[in-house]
Amino acid sequence: MAEIVPDTKMNANAAADDEKLVLKVRDLHTYFFTDLGVSKALNGVSFEIPQGKTMGIVGESGCGKSVTALSIMRLVPRPGKIVKGKVTLYRRPKGASSNSSVVEEVDLTAMDVMSAKMRGIRGNELAMIFQEPMTSMNPSYTIGDQIEEAILLHQKVDHTEAEKRAITILDRVGMANSKGVIKRYPHELSGGMRQRAMIAMALSCTPSVLFADEPTTALDVTTEAQILDLMREIQQQINSTIVFITHNLGVVAQMCDTVAVMYLGRVVEQSSVDDTFYSPKHPYTMALLSSIPHAGSHKKDRLQPIRGVVPDPYSSIKGCPFHPRCNYFKPKVCDQAMPGITQVGPNHIVRCFLYSDAVGE
Ligand code: SF4
Repeated sequence: MAEIVPDTKMNANAAADDEKLVLKVRDLHTYFFTDLGVSKALNGVSFEIPQGKTMGIVGESGCGKSVTALSIMRLVPRPGKIVKGKVTLYRRPKGASSNSSVVEEVDLTAMDVMSAKMRGIRGNELAMIFQEPMTSMNPSYTIGDQIEEAILLHQKVDHTEAEKRAITILDRVGMANSKGVIKRYPHELSGGMRQRAMIAMALSCTPSVLFADEPTTALDVTTEAQILDLMREIQQQINSTIVFITHNLGVVAQMCDTVAVMYLGRVVEQSSVDDTFYSPKHPYTMALLSSIPHAGSHKKDRLQPIRGVVPDPYSSIKGCPFHPRCNYFKPKVCDQAMPGITQVGPNHIVRCFLYSDAVGE
């Protein structure tokens, strides 16, 4: 199981554990400086992922899931900026097992976004599958051009070899008639084919970490199942780490080893998938789970929507940011200070005053 170490309780064997990690995120803060004020999209996000594991990041829209991935990839658009925190990438030879030695520790947050080294990492070792390929792909270039561009940028091959590799990767993601598809434009493909092409583009350089941002949201359920099967197969083949960003808890249950639940730019609970689904601790996680149907639910059972709405990102809420919506709200406690991180199980952390009086930032 992926290990979870809260930032307030650093593991004594951190050096040994770091050997198995592929990514460590510590206290990441990303703000957007706009004319309306400062939107604090990330307010101290910390987690770590061992190589070859799959982690889900869940939460409602606006909780910071996508900004977390964009911050790690150093793709935060202006006026956004990482103002604090550190992201460490542990580089190993491509496709190596988790036991393979780390060849280099790279502080991604210290790097110049446009430096050759960062561009060499982005798309090559860190790749992203975006939510809606139609808006993420360039409509004026063929599918082949777009996949070959990544191959030519990161691998020392000529155009003929890049085209061959593009066809091979399209075959690998189950694209029918790959040789014909590379000559077509994004608008000429169905939604499922476009998403397969997007996955092919992300996988073209066998990344160590693959961020999948709502990769199946725009797809029908049959295509969704095919794409999820495909991602599972690919992960086994290339030993990639996958970070699934989704609001779909069903996808998390099927695909992930661990889950981080985010609310207003913070991780409020993190544990194994089993702990999250069978023993949720944070009231927000409980509310998320109550708002979806479960196997065995009676058709007359009513789903429980989460009270209220996600607050305006420019507003500042005193105390626990979830307190205006929380069913377990403790007056004069929850509205006074930010709860700290509490370890409630071997690999289970939660940020809530129900489990300790610890105060955090
Ligand atoms: Fe609810 Fe209080 Fe826990 Fe926040 S700290 S989630 S308001 S019980």
